Amino acid sequence: MKVFVAGGAGYIGSHTVYELIRAGHEVVVYDNLSTGCRDAVHPGARFYEGDILDKDRIVQVLQTESAEGAVDVAMHFAAKLIVPESVSMPLAYYHNNVEGLRQMLLGLMESEVTSIVFSSTAAVYGEPQKGECLEDDYTLPINPYGETKLAAERMIKWASEAHGLNYCIFRYFNVAGADSTLEIGLNKDQLTHLVPLIMQAALGQIEKLSIFGSDYDTFDGTCVRDYIHVTDLAKAHVKGAEYLCKQNSSLLVNLGSGEGYSVKEVVDAASKLLPLAYEFVPRRPGDPAKLYANITKAREQLGWQPELGLNDILQSDLDYRRKLLGSNS
Ligand code: UDP
Repeated sequence: MKVFVAGGAGYIGSHTVYELIRAGHEVVVYDNLSTGCRDAVHPGARFYEGDILDKDRIVQVLQTESAEGAVDVAMHFAAKLIVPESVSMPLAYYHNNVEGLRQMLLGLMESEVTSIVFSSTAAVYGEPQKGECLEDDYTLPINPYGETKLAAERMIKWASEAHGLNYCIFRYFNVAGADSTLEIGLNKDQLTHLVPLIMQAALGQIEKLSIFGSDYDTFDGTCVRDYIHVTDLAKAHVKGAEYLCKQNSSLLVNLGSGEGYSVKEVVDAASKLLPLAYEFVPRRPGDPAKLYANITKAREQLGWQPELGLNDILQSDLDYRRKLLGSNS
């Protein structure tokens, strides 16, 4: 397969590019490097700098690449994804995540690329009563990030009906960890996600971890989430792209581990690797109490299942952060 990866220099995109190349596929990365990093792009991929909102540039790159052999599948990772940031900057999220996708779909159609793998999120489910999420469950996002991803999903479905596009939409749960080579990982100045912040606290890079809320309706009062290793998630994308190349049909599946862990449980598991200081602080806006995946559909339709668990996630993020510290000192 030849795969066009928009956002391939970012955290999840770069891991997917590594797995595509390991599986023997040809990869074209398109990224504006706003949050991604040129060094995270696998040396075996071809890189083009460009913005998701720039349809003409997307068409130009796809046409250049098509001259050497048709692009079989496009992947879209070029989105904003921080829940609290989306609460304070909703219009920026609509611009990037909804209008950006529209520009990319226009570019794909103009270039006759008819398959797309799209990164969506568990945030589309909102505040599910029971915590476990199935793909057919009601969607009612409680933050702008989830709203923009739901709007994007719907845009893809309508475009699919009207223009014969095939899609594989993945609803991600909480993605963390780093590639086993430690060449790539989540490398950002301003970290907001739980696992890397835990490790920063453990390594003394921040004074202590703040646990947002201790009065949720969960067994220990802290939020329950489903943590999936980025390498497992990336492998699912390879299977999603292969599925689109083989079948003339579309798919929407959850990607998680199928297990829920409370924030406190994640902190306790990390403390066994390295002690860390933490404190309980008030709730963060936009956080549902419980969110974890039912992954039966991904298992059945894609023949995929996670191979790595919470301890692998924590250990690989810790190893990656230690490596970053070493290279900065
Ligand atoms: N969280 C926390 N302290 C932090 C960062 C996150 O207690 O410094 C909690 C957050 O409130 C949520 C869970 O950890 O319940 C996962 O948050 P994260 O930002 O990693 O991912 P999200 O679920 O928002 O996509």
